[in-house]
Amino acid sequence: MSKAWSFALVRLIALLLVALIIGLIVGHVQAALLVAVSGGLLLQWMQLYRLSWWLQHRSAEDAPDLGGLWGEIIALIMRIYRRKLFHKRRTAELFREFRQLSAAVPDGLLVLGADREIQWFNSAAGRLLGLRRKLDFGQRIDNLLRHPDFVRYIEGGDYTASVVVRSVQDTEVFLSLQLVVHSAERQLLLVRDVTREVRLDAMRKDFVANASHELRSPLTVITGYVDALAEDTQLDTLWRGPIAEMGRQAMRMRSVVDSLIELSRLESTVGEAGDERVDVGAMLVALAAENRALIERPSEIALHLDSQAMLLGASRELHSIFSNLITNAVKYTPPSGRVDIGWWADQHGAHFSVTDTGVGIAPEHIPRLTERFYRVDQSRHRSTGGAGLGLAIVKHALTRHGGTLEVSSEESRGSVFTCHFPQRRVVV
Ligand code: ADP
Repeated sequence: MSKAWSFALVRLIALLLVALIIGLIVGHVQAALLVAVSGGLLLQWMQLYRLSWWLQHRSAEDAPDLGGLWGEIIALIMRIYRRKLFHKRRTAELFREFRQLSAAVPDGLLVLGADREIQWFNSAAGRLLGLRRKLDFGQRIDNLLRHPDFVRYIEGGDYTASVVVRSVQDTEVFLSLQLVVHSAERQLLLVRDVTREVRLDAMRKDFVANASHELRSPLTVITGYVDALAEDTQLDTLWRGPIAEMGRQAMRMRSVVDSLIELSRLESTVGEAGDERVDVGAMLVALAAENRALIERPSEIALHLDSQAMLLGASRELHSIFSNLITNAVKYTPPSGRVDIGWWADQHGAHFSVTDTGVGIAPEHIPRLTERFYRVDQSRHRSTGGAGLGLAIVKHALTRHGGTLEVSSEESRGSVFTCHFPQRRVVV
């Protein structure tokens, strides 16, 4: 018990004792006690009244100096009130700082509700998307931003990557949009101006395409001369080795240049592939025969054609997909191993797979295999001559056919590369 409470108790007992003594002296104990208790109650009532009045006007008036018990209660109330005021100010300050910070962020931020309606956005989002404060609050983002790619992205449900669209305000500007789902009721949309990156990427692609085209003609001339020299019977035998090596290296350069041109062509073609009827079975029979004719190859190259299904697509691109995957399997499988090529169809679509018992790929490399110039092992590549472009071509060509690539592999045991084609591209 605090001092004030003990003092109040002592005072109450003293008051009752004094009233008792006076009552005994005057011979009216009950009346004396009644007067004392009524006086005490009146005093308490007055103090309670002052306290209640102050509580109602506390923002304008200082606390009354009541002392004792009531003084202690007022001090307690003051402490709670000050703490509340401090937190209120701090929250307001934090909110102000957050608004200043979000206004300074160069990227656009939008908070969306359960129906993807706009609940809040920063100034960069307003500028990049042409949104008007207050007017666009509550509007659904897919109603304001009707770009087909964005609508497909929003409805697709996979928000691990972003989608790049042209700005409606300025068609020269490219915006990257990414949805971050926090909960069913709260989502965040990040908007970034990626015009510079898109331009640089286009420049890089143009450069690669032009440089590859420029390299092709001189290479053809060099290969022609090297071939002629290799066939020249009068040439000193000392030169045979170096000329054969020159021929091999020229061939390798030719294959890299051809792959680069193919990749550039695929990257610059927009939209899905056409719908030429392609006899996959016949194509695979020819590819299997070509690979069986190689000198260095796995002892067994088996073809399992379980379907007569044909594909609607671009024949050249489909040939590129199958050829790259079969060539890889043959390249990365020792002569003692085997390669199995499969083609089948089911209710989901048509599927092509190449299974080998070769060197395999460690799991950390698998997600990066389709990046251009990505090779698992540099030393291994030197002996096999790959440039790391084959799977990039496969991925692009597959995407143009609405297909997907699945890779499963185990080091030293072998790999399975499977291409899945959608039903709409299959004709029986
Ligand atoms: P490359 O021309 O070097 O073969 P790719 O893009 O076709 O380029 O393949 C990328 C890398 O993936 C290769 O360098 C190789 O390390 C690995 N790879 C591809 N296919 C296989 C396979 N069937 N078995 C083992 N490794 C493979």
